[in-house]
Amino acid sequence: MQTENDRITALMLENKSGRTAVCAGSVIDATGDADICHLSGEGTVNFTPGNVLASWYYRQENGVNNLTMHGYAEPPKSYLGKTLSDPDVGGKRYSGLDGAELSGMVIDAHKNVLDDLLKRGLKAPDLTSMAAIPQVRMTRRIDGIATPDEDNDAYYEDSIGIIGNWKVRGPSYELPFGCLKGKKIRNLLAAGRCVAATDLMWDLTRVIPTCTLTGEAAGTAAAMTDDFTAIDIPALQAKLRANGNVLHKSELGLQKKAETKKEPDGSRMGGKARYEYDAERGVLIRCPSEGMPKIMDKSSLVWRDFGPQDDPYLRAILMGQGCWERLDTISAAEAERVLTEWGYPFDDE
Ligand SMILES: Cc1cc2nc3c(=O)[nH]c(=O)nc-3n(C[C@H](O)[C@H](O)[C@H](O)COP(=O)(O)OP(=O)(O)OC[C@H]3O[C@@H](n4cnc5c(N)ncnc54)[C@H](O)[C@@H]3O)c2cc1C
Repeated sequence: MQTENDRITALMLENKSGRTAVCAGSVIDATGDADICHLSGEGTVNFTPGNVLASWYYRQENGVNNLTMHGYAEPPKSYLGKTLSDPDVGGKRYSGLDGAELSGMVIDAHKNVLDDLLKRGLKAPDLTSMAAIPQVRMTRRIDGIATPDEDNDAYYEDSIGIIGNWKVRGPSYELPFGCLKGKKIRNLLAAGRCVAATDLMWDLTRVIPTCTLTGEAAGTAAAMTDDFTAIDIPALQAKLRANGNVLHKSELGLQKKAETKKEPDGSRMGGKARYEYDAERGVLIRCPSEGMPKIMDKSSLVWRDFGPQDDPYLRAILMGQGCWERLDTISAAEAERVLTEWGYPFDDE
């Protein structure tokens, strides 16, 4: 990387043709790991908890193509004050930022796939596909002039678009232009999973729909200027709008979280919790704004802590994985209606 006066002047690339310098007016770091930011002296932040070993793969079994998801998405260790281990992949963590470690990660992942195949009594031809590259989620990101937060349901004047929360239905967040831009290099932006976000928000910004949003915004900006400190934000926003992007939640009639949290329950349920409902299995989960969720079965009608048999639900709540597609987020009023139908003894509570 060549830099001069807080600008990248050339990227040095090496491939079959030997060494080449690419001199560009503006540069977008879409390496996923903020490599260009790091090498150019732009500020970066590492994901300190590291990545679990992920070794997702497809296998043929009785004529059906099944996905095995070893190594779930994982929020930071401190999420809701609870540490979750992943029994499938052990406790080892990978930073994703070291060549030798990444090679070791691929070897560990492929061994994990082989062990699982053998355990199931399957053979090599039953393996349909597996990842040839390391499966990392959060590694290193740009230290942006803005760092959006999952809890901050903010309005951003410089919003470049709106993203959802892949773990729960409902919440949406504006993303500021500032999460693409660092504090030092004038002609550099980040896009994709290495844009700025707090650890919890990072788990939302790293997914593909958000990567497309930040990629489009960064590319559009790069076509406008080679000095992002002086970019005309309203002009950028006009271009993004013209391409069909919605920039502010108010344009969709979406209220801020604080307003939507006012439950019309009146009630015995308490308004500050989120409720998740599995109608098929008759399971209701109460997620308070602080502390661990409680779970209730239609057959027992008692709020209790999660047990080993409920682990997929806990994962669904904390990590958005496993059985998440079976859960519907419902209001406190709806939860009360469900409980009344089940015959829950409110008066005894
Ligand atoms: C197991 C797993 C399951 C997932 N499932 C989903 C899902 O179901 N839905 C979803 O939305 N998201 C999912 N994700 C997340 C999502 O796929 C990624 O976060 C997203 O694709 C990241 O896109 P990106 O373009 O920012 O980075 P990447 O896709 O990582 O692309 C970065 C590119 O830059 C290249 N590169 C990096 N460094 C250099 C360098 N120094 N020199 C040259 N080239 C370099 C890399 O080779 C790569 O091609 C999953 C992630 C994992 C690990």
